[in-house]
Amino acid sequence: MNCHHRFIESFRSFALAFAALLSATLFASPIQAAGGGTVDEGYTPTDPYPSQEVYYPGTEALGEDEIRVIACGTGMPMPRTKQAAACFLIELGNGDKFIFDLGTGAFTTLYAMGIPLDYLTKVFITHQHADHMGDLPTMWIYGMQNGRTLPLEIWGPGGGGMPAEWGMKSATDGILKFYNWMYETSKGGLDTRSLVMNVHEYDWSKVNNVIYDENGVVIRSIPAVHLEGSASFILEWNGMKIAYSGDTLANRWWTEHTKGVDLSIHEAFLPNRNFVTKYRFQPAEAIYVSTLVHTTAPVFGKVMALTQPRRAVAYHFQNDPDTLPDMVTAVRQTYDGPVDFAVDGMVWNITKDEIRSRVSMLNSQPFPPPLVNARQQAAPGGERYETPEWILQGYEWDTLDLMDDIHREFNEEFGTQFEFPLRPKE
Ligand SMILES: [Zn+2]
Ligand SMILES: [Zn+2]
Repeated sequence: MNCHHRFIESFRSFALAFAALLSATLFASPIQAAGGGTVDEGYTPTDPYPSQEVYYPGTEALGEDEIRVIACGTGMPMPRTKQAAACFLIELGNGDKFIFDLGTGAFTTLYAMGIPLDYLTKVFITHQHADHMGDLPTMWIYGMQNGRTLPLEIWGPGGGGMPAEWGMKSATDGILKFYNWMYETSKGGLDTRSLVMNVHEYDWSKVNNVIYDENGVVIRSIPAVHLEGSASFILEWNGMKIAYSGDTLANRWWTEHTKGVDLSIHEAFLPNRNFVTKYRFQPAEAIYVSTLVHTTAPVFGKVMALTQPRRAVAYHFQNDPDTLPDMVTAVRQTYDGPVDFAVDGMVWNITKDEIRSRVSMLNSQPFPPPLVNARQQAAPGGERYETPEWILQGYEWDTLDLMDDIHREFNEEFGTQFEFPLRPKE
């Protein structure tokens, strides 16, 4: 080896040592490869992916000090395949779970979370626009087929000078009427104990009003500036706060009571010219909707600048490749803090030390989630519906032998002794 080569060798050693030092200082975990790039040590062709960049519902335990918030609907009133209307699920480390709004199409995403429906019985409605409670009838009526045995507990606005017929109790009476035929004819055939709605009307006009206080969880409401009968919620647990606007203009009660909250979920409409160009509104409709009923994007930014949450979340807009850049530009005119522009399935893991946002990989073909309470063929009051005899006598008797075979096979598989009950009248 001549002098020239020795110089190159020692230079290379120095360079590698320097690179290793740099790597150890700046990048703690990856290992410096000979070529200068980094590798994940010990990762083999048969290992699982080393880190979960996305959330797979039902695969992660929730820490006892942790909050998980999942966006189940982030869009506009007309539900779309990628975005349902307003719905946020809040899961606490103490096991409690709360649904804030249940807008059109949102139950599909909520159901995809695979959570036993007996754990999802507490629904808080900010106001009665369909994009905030349109899927409440769906969630209520289909509990009986999907493992919910408990009543649905519903908190919704009432009082505050509003006519009684505009309150939540009146709305749920309407749901009962709408599904009266289905309700009555289901009794005794399936477990219909879930077909009870317990309504807790709260006075939407009160400021910082405690509407729920159990098991260390306090939920307060403030009036929303959105027509009348509308509220925003602030949930407090374990020294952390989640604020959820529902629909509101920039709101001084919000500014006062949500300062420094951990997660501030607030509506943010697309910049108002979109209501002419994309929604085909008249200009007068566009300016009314985006400035007198809702919060347009730059105003959302201003509200966050005034309240300085640990993390802001903008929702209630179509989050598309062509709308997002304008949205970001509009919000950044007025706010430079941390903000997520929500999509359905976005999830936040919140502790006092960290807030982590990811997106979920949603199961598009879920079956009923695990059962936590045993099903039974029971109806409230033990009632049982019977189909009129003359309709049953319309049965096609040529399929009777097949039906007997089907019952035999079922009995063999499940150790039961069922017989097809229909026989032709002599
Ligand atoms: Zn609304
Ligand atoms: Zn809305």
